[in-house]
Amino acid sequence: MQVYKFGGASVRSAEGIRNIYRIVSGVQDNLFVVVSAMGKTTNAMEVVLDCFMKADHQASLNKLAEVESYHKDIIEELFVNPEIGLVAIEPFFTELKRLISEGIGDDYDRWYDRLVSYGEIISTKIVSAYLLESGIENTWIDLRGQIVTDSNYREANVKMDESQARLQQAADFTKSRMYIGQGFIGANIKGDPTTLGREGSDYSAAVVGNLLNAESVTIWKDVPGILNADPRLFENTVLIRELTYLDAVELAYSGAQIIHPKTIKPLENKHIPLYVRPFGTPEEAGTVIKEKTDNPIDVPVLILRKNQVLITVRPRDFSFVLEESLSKAFSVMNKHRLKVSMIQSSAISISVCVDNSRYLSGALDELGNEFKVTYNDGLELLTIRGITDEIVQKTTDGRTILLTQRTRRSGRYLMKELA
Ligand code: ASP
Ligand code: MG
Repeated sequence: MQVYKFGGASVRSAEGIRNIYRIVSGVQDNLFVVVSAMGKTTNAMEVVLDCFMKADHQASLNKLAEVESYHKDIIEELFVNPEIGLVAIEPFFTELKRLISEGIGDDYDRWYDRLVSYGEIISTKIVSAYLLESGIENTWIDLRGQIVTDSNYREANVKMDESQARLQQAADFTKSRMYIGQGFIGANIKGDPTTLGREGSDYSAAVVGNLLNAESVTIWKDVPGILNADPRLFENTVLIRELTYLDAVELAYSGAQIIHPKTIKPLENKHIPLYVRPFGTPEEAGTVIKEKTDNPIDVPVLILRKNQVLITVRPRDFSFVLEESLSKAFSVMNKHRLKVSMIQSSAISISVCVDNSRYLSGALDELGNEFKVTYNDGLELLTIRGITDEIVQKTTDGRTILLTQRTRRSGRYLMKELA
């Protein structure tokens, strides 16, 4: 069997969903299809949630009404008989309205997962119903029943062993040769919904591929495959046809927005190749990520990770930075879910570069108990792999650089964002 994953951009319109039909109708093999929320639905649901958390239930319901009409408009355009699609999603909007009207927003992260996860439930319902209407037999699965996670709301970790038996039973391909399930979501052992982190649907697809021992996983994206740099930021980009799991982890960690960093591990563990292919031109091969390649990357790779913060901590008692203070600082950052993208230490201080997030101020407060803390925000981290002086000159010229790291092949430059 194979796993196909379609992201939010692929399902943002009726036209996109028709294209999914075209792509899956050509597949002979058994197929598990993972789908994200439609378009910018996750962002929109975050606004619904914010209003709810401020106890402004009416504003929350109004925002939800916008989400609902966006989905209904797509259904009207997509289905021959729109009633089929409308009936399929109606119960979920009813549930959402009830949760919002009756609920009390106590725990942000938990409510996030409870409400925002509906984006994927609703999108998969629409895709499944549309494929059925178009003559493609398939079975919809609510993966909150099969993907078992811990209770780390908003960034939950999948429990592979618990999930395996459940998913293999639910998607055994005896009665159906196509299953449709959600990216991004699961539930803890008590059944409370969880989410796996923003853009986590790639990771879901990899988890499903692992649990069902897929021959391959394919992520359909609105790009030709994996490029050596983001074409919106750099000129003359080229397609990388093959890369290893290790390359892919390195690129994703450096901030390449192409795949979620957690995607590779479940695939690597079972040697499952990952294809990244263009949704708009499915006849093209795109990129394959696998164990080994005979064609190592032979072009420089440039990755820009935005919205970075540089934090420097120094023990208050003037003790040197030894293991103890290092581990203290990192455990605080870990507790507050800071994503560390670069580390540097000296005799008396530790500097780390992290993604800016809503958890930052809590972490800075707690670090302040033990350390003298300074920080700069509004930064971006440029990683250059296959570094040459010419590329460095071209990409960093005139920029204010706060921190540099260079190894034989790579360079990293933490710079002030351009005004
Ligand atoms: N819908 C979620 C998000 O936008 C997950 C995903 O698209 O991968 O973050
Ligand atoms: Mg998305």
